[in-house]
Amino acid sequence: MSAPLNAPWIARQATDLLAQRGHAWLLQGPSGLGQYELALALASAWLCEKPTPQGACGDCPSCHAIAVHTHADLAVLMPETVMIELGWPLSEKAQDEIDKKSRKPSKEIRVDAMRDAVEFSQRTDARGRGKAVLVFPAERMNTITANALLKTLEEPPGDVRFVLATEASHMLLPTIRSRCLAHTMKWPEADEALAWLTGQGVQAPVAQALLRSAGGRPTDVLRQAESGLSPEWWAALPKAMRQGDARHLADMSSAQAIDALQKLCHDLVLRQAGAAPRFFDAAQLPATSASVMVLTDWFKRLMQSARTAEHPFNAGLMLEALTADAQQTLLSKG
Ligand SMILES: [Zn+2]
Repeated sequence: MSAPLNAPWIARQATDLLAQRGHAWLLQGPSGLGQYELALALASAWLCEKPTPQGACGDCPSCHAIAVHTHADLAVLMPETVMIELGWPLSEKAQDEIDKKSRKPSKEIRVDAMRDAVEFSQRTDARGRGKAVLVFPAERMNTITANALLKTLEEPPGDVRFVLATEASHMLLPTIRSRCLAHTMKWPEADEALAWLTGQGVQAPVAQALLRSAGGRPTDVLRQAESGLSPEWWAALPKAMRQGDARHLADMSSAQAIDALQKLCHDLVLRQAGAAPRFFDAAQLPATSASVMVLTDWFKRLMQSARTAEHPFNAGLMLEALTADAQQTLLSKG
């Protein structure tokens, strides 16, 4: 995935935050607004040899080291699945265990990784610009890892700064939240998001349609475009669900499917209330006599499924169950 550090709304926020002092930032807000990208922009600026008020220079040895994801003074704490997705190297030990198939990449931030990071924060920096610890998504810490981090946040060893990025800050320990300066991610302007997406190689009509399905969140759009989600697919989703066609969801992860169905449900509720839909065109929504109560119940079931979507007993079965539930809801008579 490309790291859109140059996105104008990320750059603006980086400038704002760099003008303030703080050894621990918590970047929060819904997914797709660029928490990770802003976190990386901050860490890069902290470690850069020639930083400007706008951030890292992009050209010094430190910036180059970050660009290739090997900087001795930057510790990146992520679930292994996310590290792999974003192209960060795993520790030798972790890589070895995964290569030998003795376990799968972890979806949580592992205690081992946190121990390494705590040790890292106590070492002397290698390049004389201090050190940085980047945690993303911070809500993927379990209680043990979170408490280990908390100790370091409470007694930071001098020259280390932290940036935690989260898409679910309510899932963090309150004690962690209170140790950080919180920043709520800002939304980009629609034309700004569109211009940036076309600059990333997404065709304008596709970007426009996907921006709508992603609720205006540009980095979500980029991920969707990269995973092959087309506007045509999106437009056909509501009717496919009404027909109970599970094949329409076949290429999606359970989490993606649930997200799409929640948006469909959301728009149907809006329509019932006489408001304009947000994620779909009105013409794309299927006829249904499902009441707001029935739709709300469906939404609750989807939220429940979202909690188990990371460990699906069988992804195919889950998609079929989701489709059947969607169809039943849409065909409900009140
Ligand atoms: Zn630099």
